[in-house]
Amino acid sequence: MRPELLNPLFADTESMDGVGPKLRKPLARLGLTRLRDLLYHLPDRFVQRHSVSTLDDATVGEQIVAPLTPIEHKASAGRGPFRVMAQDEAGNICALTYFGRASYTARKQLPTGEKRWIAGRLDQYGQMLQIVHPDHVAQDSAGAMGKLVEPIYPLAEGLTQPRMAALVGQSLSHLPDLPEWIESGVMQKQGWPAWKEALLRAHKAEDKPARDRLAYDELLANSLALMLVRAANRQRKGQPLSGDGHLRRKLELPFPLTGAQKRSIAEVEGDLGQTSPMLRLLQGDVGAGKTVVALEALLIAVESGAQGAMLAPTEILARQHYETLRQMAAPTGVQIALLTGRDKGKARESILMGLMDGSIDIVVGTHAIFQDAVTYRNLALVVIDEQHRFGVGQRLMLTRKGRVTPHCLAMTATPIPRTLTLAEYGEMDVSRLDELPPGRQAIDTRVISSERLGDVVAGLERHFQQGNQAYWVCPMVRENENEDIAAAEARYAGLKERLGDDVVLVHGQLKSEEKDAAMERFARGDAKLLVATTVIEVGVDVPNATLMVIEQAERFGLAQLHQLRGRVGRGSKKSVCLLIRGENLSETGRERLALMRATQDGFRLAEEDLRLRGGGELLGTRQSGDSPFNVASLEQIQQLLPVAHDDARLLVERDGGLDSPRGAAARILLYLFERDWGVQLLRGG
Ligand code: ADP
Ligand code: MG
Repeated sequence: MRPELLNPLFADTESMDGVGPKLRKPLARLGLTRLRDLLYHLPDRFVQRHSVSTLDDATVGEQIVAPLTPIEHKASAGRGPFRVMAQDEAGNICALTYFGRASYTARKQLPTGEKRWIAGRLDQYGQMLQIVHPDHVAQDSAGAMGKLVEPIYPLAEGLTQPRMAALVGQSLSHLPDLPEWIESGVMQKQGWPAWKEALLRAHKAEDKPARDRLAYDELLANSLALMLVRAANRQRKGQPLSGDGHLRRKLELPFPLTGAQKRSIAEVEGDLGQTSPMLRLLQGDVGAGKTVVALEALLIAVESGAQGAMLAPTEILARQHYETLRQMAAPTGVQIALLTGRDKGKARESILMGLMDGSIDIVVGTHAIFQDAVTYRNLALVVIDEQHRFGVGQRLMLTRKGRVTPHCLAMTATPIPRTLTLAEYGEMDVSRLDELPPGRQAIDTRVISSERLGDVVAGLERHFQQGNQAYWVCPMVRENENEDIAAAEARYAGLKERLGDDVVLVHGQLKSEEKDAAMERFARGDAKLLVATTVIEVGVDVPNATLMVIEQAERFGLAQLHQLRGRVGRGSKKSVCLLIRGENLSETGRERLALMRATQDGFRLAEEDLRLRGGGELLGTRQSGDSPFNVASLEQIQQLLPVAHDDARLLVERDGGLDSPRGAAARILLYLFERDWGVQLLRGG
């Protein structure tokens, strides 16, 4: 149960003054659905205004607060702006310029002859000084002086800065005093304020200690929760699986395993033989051959008379894994089933039966495989593909399925930097597939200006005539999914008109049947071109697709580009990746694309991605969804995570049940950051 004193912070935003269903929407789009979320909606930056008594003291381009007296209202003909000519005490004239409906309020706020304090950016328009749409108009100097420093919040359509500031202010007025969970030595050394003060300060002005403390809280909560999972896992009883090899011997793989694959399989085999459940991460770049490792692990479970499950993030991937595993495992006679949310009625019933009576050895599926209705005769191993798509909470839910705790093998193609590995996977054991299967050709990566889109389309036709297939990726920026989808639809229509019916479209808002049908056509080779938003990012395997076109490539993170590029170069044929760049390329964007051309090493790209984003790049962790953190920036993660990690470890070593006063405070922290599955484990013992 969440501690009583946190409850008000978890109230829905709609319970706030002035928030109704209409305002709730744009807030929700920013991920702000509860008071708590507003507390942690920290300003991107602050405007600093310079208070001047006359405009002689101000420079053009500067943010100022100045006392000005309106002397004339000037409406212009037609659609021109409305201007209030105002004068300072030295006689300088400045136009306060308004467009559209804003002029109505301006007329009222700025009567001629009455002095007002105006806040805004001083510009020059021809010979005239002007302030366009002043940020504030105050009646007295006190009102204006309160606006010298002002937060700038991330917004969504339908919200304004003053509105957001007022809402955040309202949430801040509900702050309880919470006991301190950070170790006192760390607090002193860093010079950090208490939690409540840190929140108040972080919204008021640029304040590194306050921001760092808040980030640290999040990192500590995460480390602590993962540490508790780990500790609980060590205490749990698993089922030692020592397969005798009778099934694995029957496999007829068309290739010899790489050294890295052999090593990883041996590591997995070692873990499976233990009583304590395996908690291992298999990290391997796209195409490194993780599926075979998974298959061997699953077969070990079946050889030992138990069942295995493989969890995929999407139906498309589940289906693909199912086909691959079934093909590879055919000579073994092992029974494999596919279970997704789409299976209904008799078919579903018969799979559920098979899992319950043990006639199905291995099940592949989406999260449908751990719904309540699904029971296993003896589930001993769970393989989770594309680990980063699943919350740790889900991972835990899964592990409750067996009579004993199943072994867990998590697989990811995202080569995350070491610092983030720690953040995301805590103390999981890691196997790395750092060697690609032989015979892979380097992918020829080229950066092309969007002006040459026509040439690219012409090139596609030649590509198809040679019997090859291709992907076309449209950018997806989560801020407005509908617009992105519209852009993808439009591109699809255009390409179809040009290239004929061999073009299919896949995006997140299609029904899963439609998506699967399109994917299947493409995988069969019936469709030549797959137009998609980033849903094809993970896992899809079509060796005959040898061309990848990525539009507005600069809008993707490096790690994401790398994932996308990894869709091609899967067969023995030469593959090409075309990165189409937009017109206004930022320095970072340019550097990203150059790096993509320079290397195909996923781990190097991951490190560079982190470095580039550390520089305050907009397409940050929040949007790309590859960081488990909302408050901590990548820079803070790098600097503070090791400290938080040690802090958490010490706490768990000294007070594993979180019973001491500091332990009790730490429980509150876990609830505050919704890492309370850590607390639940404590109770489970
Ligand atoms: P990942 O899941 O790591 O992205 P896959 O398991 O899908 O990679 O393997 C990619 C491709 O490489 C598949 O077509 C697979 O059959 C092939 N492959 C896997 N291991 C080897 C190997 N040792 N030698 C040659 N090809 C391999
Ligand atoms: Mg895979």
